[in-house]
Amino acid sequence: MMSISDNLLNIRHQIPQEVTLVAVSKTKPVSCVEEAYRMGQRDFGENKAQELKDKYEVLPKDIKWHFIGHLQTNKVKYIVPFVYLIHGVDSYKLLMEINKQAKKVNRIIPCLLQFYIAQEETKFGFNLQECREMFDDIYFKNMQNVLIQGVMGMATHTDNQKQQHSEFKTLKNIFETLKQDYQLSQDFKIISMGMTEDYHIAIEEGTTMVRIGSAIFGVRQYSMN
Ligand SMILES: *Cc1c(COP(=O)(O)O)cnc(C)c1O
Repeated sequence: MMSISDNLLNIRHQIPQEVTLVAVSKTKPVSCVEEAYRMGQRDFGENKAQELKDKYEVLPKDIKWHFIGHLQTNKVKYIVPFVYLIHGVDSYKLLMEINKQAKKVNRIIPCLLQFYIAQEETKFGFNLQECREMFDDIYFKNMQNVLIQGVMGMATHTDNQKQQHSEFKTLKNIFETLKQDYQLSQDFKIISMGMTEDYHIAIEEGTTMVRIGSAIFGVRQYSMN
């Protein structure tokens, strides 16, 4: 059986050096994070605020914690004191709440805007028009406690690789368009796309950050509670 260490080494060999690997540890115990940590892994991703906070409290403080899922506004306050990057900012309302809570703890929180690129009805995210409206809003321009560092997206879960290529291309184009149209600074630099099933495709399409869970930690078992 392959261990977490073997999996991690194996994946690192397949990812270009400049691409950041976020190890998605959701549902997995602290001991799994520790094993990856011993292999030098420092970027970890979680998609539940409470679970993230619990793991943060017991694990080494040099871990960079990424929040990767849909974040409810009432949960923002639990993670702002320590979160490293919030990937799934899918509404203006959520961004405002992050800004508000970040101000209270005197932090500037790096955020990625999630775009809806898949042909699935359950995925969250902006479209380009909604994003433009936000960027043009006066209140947005005055937000002091969030830093938009790039975009995030999820491709359709499908065997059709051509479709996945095309969806990742769309996200890359959105990134380039925003960067150009709004003359965004060097801080705007992250394209977070690619998971266990499709990270090879995302790499071909220019990802800068992949979020990989099951290929490192094994399949997840969800409890019923
Ligand atoms: C769970 C999750 C991942 C990792 O999924 P795997 O298929 O296990 O690699 C990546 N991104 C998001 C947003 C997730 O929720």
